[in-house]
Parts: sequence; C-alpha cells; structure tokens
Amino acid sequence: MTEQKQQQDEQVQRFFSHHLLEWYHGQKRDLPWRRHRNPYYIWISEIMLQQTRVDTVIPYFNRFIDRFPTVEALADAPEEEVLKCWEGLGYYSRARNLQHAAKQVKELYGGQVPNDRDAVFALKGVGPYTAGAILSIAFNQPEPAVDGNVMRVLSRYFLLEDDIAKGSTRVKMERLAAVLIPEGEASHFNQALMELGALICTPKSPRCLPCPVMEHCAARLAGCETSLPVKTKAKPPRPEERLAALVEGRGGHAGRVLIRQRPSSGLLARMWELPHWLAPPAEGGAPGARPPEAAAQDRLRRSLRTAGISARPEGHWMAAEHTFSHIVWTLQVYRCREEAALPLAAESRAAYGAGAAGAAGAAGAAGAAGAAGAAGSAGAADAANAASPYLHAAAAAVQAATEQVEMFADGTETAEERGAIRWITREDMANYAFPNVFLKLLNHYFDEQEELARTSVSSK
Ligand code: SF4
Repeated sequence: MTEQKQQQDEQVQRFFSHHLLEWYHGQKRDLPWRRHRNPYYIWISEIMLQQTRVDTVIPYFNRFIDRFPTVEALADAPEEEVLKCWEGLGYYSRARNLQHAAKQVKELYGGQVPNDRDAVFALKGVGPYTAGAILSIAFNQPEPAVDGNVMRVLSRYFLLEDDIAKGSTRVKMERLAAVLIPEGEASHFNQALMELGALICTPKSPRCLPCPVMEHCAARLAGCETSLPVKTKAKPPRPEERLAALVEGRGGHAGRVLIRQRPSSGLLARMWELPHWLAPPAEGGAPGARPPEAAAQDRLRRSLRTAGISARPEGHWMAAEHTFSHIVWTLQVYRCREEAALPLAAESRAAYGAGAAGAAGAAGAAGAAGAAGAAGSAGAADAANAASPYLHAAAAAVQAATEQVEMFADGTETAEERGAIRWITREDMANYAFPNVFLKLLNHYFDEQEELARTSVSSK
C-alpha cells in the first residue's frame, strides 16, 4: 500500500468515527439502560436485545429490573420467576444462562459485574459481542462490539464483500471496529455504531440521505448499498407437524385446562405447555384410507392415554406455529374432554412421558412380563390378547410403549424425562412460564370461554 493510499484510508476512517460520534450525541434514543452506566443494566439489556427489537425489549427490561434490581436478586430468585419475567421474549436459554452467570458474579465477584476481559468472557451466555458491549459501554474500555448491525454498517461504508456468516469475517470486522474507536470514546462510539445500524443503515432500505457518514460511504458511492452485506443463507428450519391437546376438565377440574411441564433439559426446558406429540405421517390417500382428521384424533387419543391423561379428542380447534432457529412446529390443536374412566395421579409428577420403560414396567406388574416381551411381534400380541385380560393389558402396554418411542423419536423429548401436569384457570397462568405460542393459545381459549359466558348470560 502506498503512503498516499494509507493516508487516504486513515482519513476515511477518521471521518467515519468523528461524524458518527457527533451524530450520536445529537440523535441517540433515550433508552432505559442508557440513563445510568450500570454494568448490570447494560448486561441485561444486551442479552435481551439479542435477536429482539428495542421496542419489544423496553417493557421487559423495565419489569425485569423492577423485579431483580441487583445481581444478587437475580442470582437468588427461583428459576420459575426468572422465566416468567422472560415469558414472550423467546430464546429462553438466554434467561437461564443469565441467572447462571448472575450466580457466578455473586459468588466470584461479590455481586459486582467484573471489568476484566477474561472474567467477563467466562460468564455463561456471554460471547464476544456481549463481552465487548459490557466492557466498552459500561467500563469505556476500547473493545469492539460487533454484531449483525455493526457488520452491515462496516460492510457498506468500507465496501467489504466478505461473507458475514463466516467466523473469519467477524474477526476481521472486530479488528477494524477496534481501530475505529476514538481514544476515550469506546462507550459512545460503540453505541453510535449500533444506533446507526438500527436507525439509518437498516437492512433493506438504508436511509443514505440523512446518514452522517454518507460522504465517504464506499457502497453508496458505488451504488451497491442494498446488496451488502454478503451473507450466505442459513439452512431453513425443519418443519414439524405436531398434535396438541387442549384438555378441558370436568368434575373437580371444570373450568380448567391441562398443562404439562417440559423436561428439565433441551428445548424450552422446564417451561409449561399444552401436551403435544409428533403427528402421524400424512395418509397416502388410498381408497378407503382413514381421513387424516380421524387418524390425527386417534393418534392424539392414544398419546394422551399413554401419557396417563384420560381424555377424548372432540375436534380440531385451531392451528398455530412456533419457530425456533432450527425447527418450525405447526401445532394442530384439538379440544379434548377429560374422561373420568381411569384413575389418574393427575396432579402428580410422572404423567408426562410415561414412556417405554414405564409401560413395560406396568406390563410386568400386571403379571405378564413374559408376554409383554414376546408381544414385540404381532403374532405374540395376538396370542396375548386371546389368553387373558392380563395378557391383553400387557399387549396394550407394549403397543403404548412402541407408540411412545415413536413419539419421542424427534429427540426433543425422551421417555426418561418426567414432568408435572397441572389443571389451571386463567388466573393460574400467572404462576407458570409458557413459550409464546402456548401463551397465545391459552389466552385465546380463555377469551373464547369468557365471551361464551357473557353471551349466554345476556341471552337469558
Ligand atoms: S450512506 Fe447509506 S449505506 Fe452508507 S452507511 Fe450510510 S446509510 Fe449505510
């Protein structure tokens, strides 16, 4: 590189840093975590802002800080409460990691968020971006904080065509972002970069005219700002059809619906939901084949029974979707009615995932363990059915076990995991943390019930 070119590059960089900072001081938004330079607040806000818009985060942040004003308060809270405060924000492992890290900070640093690079990096759930954000924004240390927004701005201003999905590009951007930080201005400068990406240099329609760095923006000068940054597409999430049961109680459970708790690890760990299972494969449409609706209801009835829930599907209610980074659930929700035919340990643990081991165990207890083992083949099962009621029970248990193994074959649920079930009213919802899709379904259901009650009162 010639000396002249190097001088030009440095001038373009200085222009960027200077004008960006000037713009930020005049235009920055008044955000709750910007009112104090409290490292704990900044840390919470940065975790909440991952994959989530500022407008969505503000009320969550305010509630969270009200409820857990200090690192100690967060560390000492029951996990259920932390998840409840996070309910609706999604990516719930963020909340669990945050609480885990709060415990680390309480135990190792007396509740004070550390300002040491290695210590911040060692906190659970804190990656290079969040560490850079905490160190720069809260402690004014010259650390880069490079996320998707920042990579977009830098790609455009410097006309960088590297694929931002690659780790090597991130490292390159971090080096560049570090060089751009003016001395003593890390906190404001990093926030200014983020603010420009959020307000002006937006993904689809960058607003170049009011942009403070337009004059030297290489992508704008080349007319290619909307084709940057370069990013290879991630694999689309895998679709998964699931059958969900909205079980309405009767007798002592009248006016309540049944929810279950997810296993203690994996997807949406320990959160509450309507029971649901993988749907059977779509019918081939052969003449005389069962219609999909009947097959779905049959599978749901058997799944409920296998899980120890005595309920009968009464018809399709509605469909709903829940998207994760790697999977999309389409939930076909059926209204089901509790049946009193079988004695249930309804409010006890173990109703969720009464799987292969449990069913086989039940078969053994029925005095038909041998038959159950043999009933793995259809012929043995037939023989067992014919022999005695005990053997019939054994065959049913084995069939249930087989179904359960199928149901758990998606890897998100395992037969070993056990969870609780509860019968709840709308008021009880305040005590349980639900993923968004179930929160919406339950609210919708209770809204419908209230509307129905109002209509029936007014028509009397
Ligand atoms: S001029 Fe346009 S493309 Fe360049 S940084 Fe500003 S908003 Fe982005």
